[in-house]
Amino acid sequence: MDWIISYNEPQVSPWAHLLSRPSVRLQHHQEAKERGRRSPNPNKKRNAALETVLKTYEPVVGVEVHAQLATNTKAYCSCSTSYGSEPNTNICPVCIGEPGALPVPNKLMVEIAAKTGMALGCSIAELTAWDRKNYFYPDTPKNYQITQHDMPIGLGGSLKLQSGKVVGITRIHMEEDSAKMMHQGSDRVAGSTHSLIDFNRAGIPLVEIVSEPDMRGGGEASEYGKEIQRLLRYLGASDGNMEEGSLRLDVNVSLRRRGDQGFGTKVELKNLNSFKAVQDAIDFEIVRQGGLYNEGGRILQETRLWDERKHKTTVMRVKEGLSDYRFFPEPDIPPLELSSGTLNSWRSELCELPAEKRSRYAEEFDLLPTDAAVIVDDHEVAKYFELVVAKGGDPREACKWIIGDIAGYCKNLKLNISDIGLTPGMLAEMLELISNRIITGKICKELLPDMLSGDWEGSVLSMVEKRGMRAIWDQGEIEAIVHRVMDENKKQVKQFKGGNTKLLGFFVGQGMKKCNGRADPEQLQKIVQDLLTRQ
Ligand SMILES: [Zn+2]
Repeated sequence: MDWIISYNEPQVSPWAHLLSRPSVRLQHHQEAKERGRRSPNPNKKRNAALETVLKTYEPVVGVEVHAQLATNTKAYCSCSTSYGSEPNTNICPVCIGEPGALPVPNKLMVEIAAKTGMALGCSIAELTAWDRKNYFYPDTPKNYQITQHDMPIGLGGSLKLQSGKVVGITRIHMEEDSAKMMHQGSDRVAGSTHSLIDFNRAGIPLVEIVSEPDMRGGGEASEYGKEIQRLLRYLGASDGNMEEGSLRLDVNVSLRRRGDQGFGTKVELKNLNSFKAVQDAIDFEIVRQGGLYNEGGRILQETRLWDERKHKTTVMRVKEGLSDYRFFPEPDIPPLELSSGTLNSWRSELCELPAEKRSRYAEEFDLLPTDAAVIVDDHEVAKYFELVVAKGGDPREACKWIIGDIAGYCKNLKLNISDIGLTPGMLAEMLELISNRIITGKICKELLPDMLSGDWEGSVLSMVEKRGMRAIWDQGEIEAIVHRVMDENKKQVKQFKGGNTKLLGFFVGQGMKKCNGRADPEQLQKIVQDLLTRQ
């Protein structure tokens, strides 16, 4: 069943100032994306304006990431976290805030949050505690959120981006999500007649990762977001799916004159539901703030929304201070002590992280840093690559095929690398067959679609034999083929000898056809040329 809230004055909603609630962002995400696609690209003009502002001012950007943790049950009760269930079926007295219900922290939530903190180089608290953050909104059934205020699970760390830039991490803490609201009759609260609420999401565990204001533009902030997403996926901490709202970003942007060390007034940007939106919204804000400063204006500390359709930020509310939330220690959950034994055993379970992998691939396998970054981008692809190498595949060759033909195939059919029929063992065998000159790379390209689609049985070699695709390297064998081609095309031979050397390609093509593409094109061409000029 749905909980329904009716508005007395639907045209002027008293909640219009609270439009940033995650449920609102989620609900309109798809639509916003489509609007963004349809809108004309105003970037050109903005880029010129951006460059002008950047000559005088330096942007200072910090990012807050909210990530849903990959647990089967909620943060403080045992309700399921599965996405897409019937509304209001994954609920209980704890997560809908009935009086007297007592929360119990999810052990796996604590473990994942601690491991994420460790991966970010944070020092993990041996004593961590929860607090109540009080605010009133229909999507918060308890009228407070159980979060962590002054004793978060992790403090002080850093994250190395693909570019090599290191961004400081201020803190990481655990909290719970709010319910999801669906406004009827309008795409937002304002103008809607009533709203439906789904409490399935209320109480889903999140971590909030707060960065230092170390980024200097939209591009860097977007790169940071992508690296956090990658890290979370490597750790298995979160699926990092922005479309389903598992990963959400808020950013703070301010400007200061180049050379200054202090900070300007910062503006918070919400509603950023893609990495492109992160970059565009920050770039817009830099131009807006620079313009205001140049006109002698003042920046207000406020929260703004990114309007993807109009490609601009608009005021949502003047920022409330921390005191507005009246934090106090959560009386129903005692502080949690984490023994050094527990922390050490969690630490020992951490996997190799994206930044470490990128530099190891470049060093150990001699991959270009850019190629290593492409492989590492998706942990499934990295896993696949390592399996090919473990099975004896040459790393550079494996990389070439993975980021070339295989990636192209996956992209076209929207597949993950784990979905394809070509196993790492088959790719390793294929590379070996190429290096042993049993098949040519050209033939492989032809066979690849069948291998990728799984239309293949047995080893690569057995199938190559069965289809008669073994490469021909024997000089005599190729000469015999060329002779046959020449016999069948006497007219063209005459023309060639008469000076029409353009026909060389014709003979190579015919030869290739005759041997089913099994010859090496270069070798074939050389033999064609020799025989045609010799006779
Ligand atoms: Zn529950």
